Amino acid sequence: MEYEAVIGLETHVQLKTRTKMWCGCANEFGAEPNSKACPVCLGLPGVLPVANAEALRLTALAGFLLNCEVAGFSKWDRKNYFYPDNPKNYQITQLDFPSTIGGHVDFELDGDATLVRITRAHLEEDVGKSFHFEDFSGLDFNRAGVPLLEIVSEPDINSADMAYEYLNALKRILEYGGVSDCDMEKGQVRCDVNVSVRPLGKSKLGAKIEIKNMNSFSGVRRALQHEIPRQIGVLQNGGAIVQETRRWDDDAGITESMRTKEDAHDYRYIPDPDLMPHTPTEEWIANVKLGMVELPLARKQRLMAEYQLPEGDAGVFVADSALADYFEEASRGVKDQKAVANWIINDLQAKLTGSETSLADLKFTPAAFSELVGFVESGKISRNIAQEVFTEMFSTGKAPTEIVEEKGLVQLSDTGELERFCKEAIEANPGPSEDYCKGKEAALNFLKGQVMKASHGRANPQLVGDLLKKILTG
Ligand SMILES: [Zn+2]
Repeated sequence: MEYEAVIGLETHVQLKTRTKMWCGCANEFGAEPNSKACPVCLGLPGVLPVANAEALRLTALAGFLLNCEVAGFSKWDRKNYFYPDNPKNYQITQLDFPSTIGGHVDFELDGDATLVRITRAHLEEDVGKSFHFEDFSGLDFNRAGVPLLEIVSEPDINSADMAYEYLNALKRILEYGGVSDCDMEKGQVRCDVNVSVRPLGKSKLGAKIEIKNMNSFSGVRRALQHEIPRQIGVLQNGGAIVQETRRWDDDAGITESMRTKEDAHDYRYIPDPDLMPHTPTEEWIANVKLGMVELPLARKQRLMAEYQLPEGDAGVFVADSALADYFEEASRGVKDQKAVANWIINDLQAKLTGSETSLADLKFTPAAFSELVGFVESGKISRNIAQEVFTEMFSTGKAPTEIVEEKGLVQLSDTGELERFCKEAIEANPGPSEDYCKGKEAALNFLKGQVMKASHGRANPQLVGDLLKKILTG
């Protein structure tokens, strides 16, 4: 019997706000433990939360970017549970009236367009962090109360690869919109995976397994690559899957049981009496929409159409929006835009990696880059010389014009001067010259190389070839 996997993801993303969700504490990673905490986010008695307006705006913006409906009425609920890193003993979240409803993420899977529907994206708060030392545990509440967007997908995902691509697409959209930096290293994106299997073609869902707190997309993929065959194996051997929560052990590469349905929490949700529902005005909504950006997939298609870029190049740019911005700037006024893409993807990226710097540290503008490519295009300098100029631009920030003039790098296209170089090369190398006359085409390249060497790379190779042929055969 054949089986299929049914997967839904709950993705938690920290919003890019200056302060926390209910207080003025800085939303800052890596600070001294408990240095970004106050009576509000520590849940001390007598305090009142005040909603962070920017978090509300980013949530609505995320909703629009994910094709959701942004609710005209949303409210706050308390999810009660005791855990040391949860100082209030409840988490403020949205149960029945979330900020955004419905929607979908469009992305590509193996080159084909596909989509995953979004059930809802609601706003809640993050909890603190526990640290376990040799003989004691520590709690850091700097993260407690940081605004967290929970994006719940429909169970539309049917493979580990699809889950992986969906998460990457989601991350890119949120990064593009400035909703979150989605920095995985800082734990800004975490994911709960719901996965079940069922006989292919059956509509009844199998028992659901939840894998909690995944903090890398490749981890999600590996966990599913393990978990799906595990469940199928159990069923094929006549066993049954019991609904439970499992933990992914990345080192061992297996999932293991954490708790079964019987241990499930009763969260005793109640509406938060301290917070008013959010009922945005039309003006507020219109203002949020001003933050809408071109989505990554749309940008990829546009880059391919507008600049005639191959899919691979467009994919590289879309994965790094700053690089794509740079490309679009540098392409202005340049005829051969593919050449600009090549320079950026190959030469520039290699230089950045080699020097451990980023695009933001570049000493020259995209306009200087267009100038450089323009020089090659017009024949002012050769591709090889352009390399030299580029290296100089990278280290000094000087403009191409300046470098070319200073170093006398302008390509030699003066036929008289080139002829002299060619004649010298022929005289100095009678063997290859004779070979060429006897029909050995490759000998011409040797002579060409000699001329290039003698001219310190400045000779126009096209002209040199033509001239050599003319002299040798004429
Ligand atoms: Zn605080």
